[in-house]
Amino acid sequence: MGMCKPSGGKFDMYGPYRSNIPQIWSEKPNIRIDYYDEITGKLPQQRWFGPDGWAIWDRDWDHKNDHNNHKFPHDHYWDYTKPRGKERQEYGPEINMDYC
Ligand SMILES: [Zn+2]
Repeated sequence: MGMCKPSGGKFDMYGPYRSNIPQIWSEKPNIRIDYYDEITGKLPQQRWFGPDGWAIWDRDWDHKNDHNNHKFPHDHYWDYTKPRGKERQEYGPEINMDYC
């Protein structure tokens, strides 16, 4: 059971390059937000939201990479047992194909 077809739907959002999707909670549960650079139309980030509306998974296609140590795309999961502001965890270079 994956999130390949988010049952709540998929939504597009546009904003500045190298920004993140601002919200970590969605009124609509089980959705995916695709975040596009408002100028180039490139896709830097996708975020999946769970049944309670909280963000559960991110896929980063591009972001700041000063040390050139990130492979793209890569995934992050959200862990709400972590302190506020640290919920988003590094997951590594692999992408989880359950999320698409
Ligand atoms: Zn990242």
